[in-house]
Amino acid sequence: MDKLKLAFYWAASCGGCEIAVLDINEKILDVVAKADIVFWPVAMDIKYKDVEKMPDKGIDVCFFNGAIRNSENEEMAKLLRRKSKVLVAFGSCACDGDVVGLGNLWNREKIFERVYFETPSTKNSMNVTPQVRYQEAILSGKLPPKGSSFLFNKAVCDECPREKKDRKISSIKRIYEINDDFKTCFIDQGVICMGPATRGGCGAQCLNANIPCTGCGGPAPRVSDQGAAMISALASIITDEKVIDQIVDPIGTFYKYSLARSILRRRVMHE
Ligand code: SF4
Ligand code: SF4
Repeated sequence: MDKLKLAFYWAASCGGCEIAVLDINEKILDVVAKADIVFWPVAMDIKYKDVEKMPDKGIDVCFFNGAIRNSENEEMAKLLRRKSKVLVAFGSCACDGDVVGLGNLWNREKIFERVYFETPSTKNSMNVTPQVRYQEAILSGKLPPKGSSFLFNKAVCDECPREKKDRKISSIKRIYEINDDFKTCFIDQGVICMGPATRGGCGAQCLNANIPCTGCGGPAPRVSDQGAAMISALASIITDEKVIDQIVDPIGTFYKYSLARSILRRRVMHE
C-alpha cells in the first residue's frame, strides 16, 4: 500500500506548533513508517517550487499552522489548499488569528514603527527596515576598489567603557581571582583581555557583560598578527618577564581565532 503523504507548514507563527508535532517523541517513527513527510520547511530543505510541481491533491493531509499576515502566507495557504486533499488549520493562530491577529488593530506603517523603531528590545539606531527593492553592486560594477574593507576601523578598546589606567602588571590573574570593580580595564587588573589587538564593531559586547574580550573579531585595524600584537602589548607593560610564565594557554589565549592566518600558522610536524 502506498504510504500517506503528509506536509507541515508554518505561516505567521512562533514555531510552537512545530514543536508540538515533535512532542509525540519517538512515536514520530510510527508516523514515518506509514507516511512520507513531503514538505516541512522547519525540518527539510524542500523549496516552494518543488511544492508547485506536485500534482494537485497529491498531499493527503497538510497541517497548516500560523496566521495569514502577509502575501507570502496567503500564497502558500492557497498553494497548499490546492495541493492537499485535506488542509488542517493547525493551532489557534491558523484557526483564529491569535496574537498575530492583534496586528489588525494597526496599519502597516504603525506596525513597522512599533516593530523596527519603538520596541524596547530592538536596537536599530540607523532605522533600517526591510526593503522590497535592492541593488546588486556586483552586477552594476559598483564594487569598491580591490583591498577595500567593510570592517569597523577601530579596536575593541576604542568601544570599551572601562577606564584605562597606568598599565603596569606584575602578575596574570584569571577573572575569578580579581575583585572586579566593573569600571577598571581588565588589563589594569591583571586579566588578559584581547581588546587592544582585536577589531571592534561588536560594541564591546563582552566587556559590557563584564567579561574580557577573547578576540573573536580578529586582528585590529593595521594589525596583521593578532596574537603577536597582543604579546607585544603585554610585553610593554609587564614588570617582570616571569609574568609570561603565568599565562596558562598562550596559543588558546592569543590565537584562539586567528592561528591559521598568523605568522605561526601551524605546528611543524616531522613524521
Ligand atoms: S583591554 Fe579590554 S577591558 Fe581594557 S579597555 Fe581594552 S577592551 Fe576594555
Ligand atoms: S570576544 Fe568578540 S564579541 Fe566579545 S568583545 Fe571581543 S570581539 Fe567583541
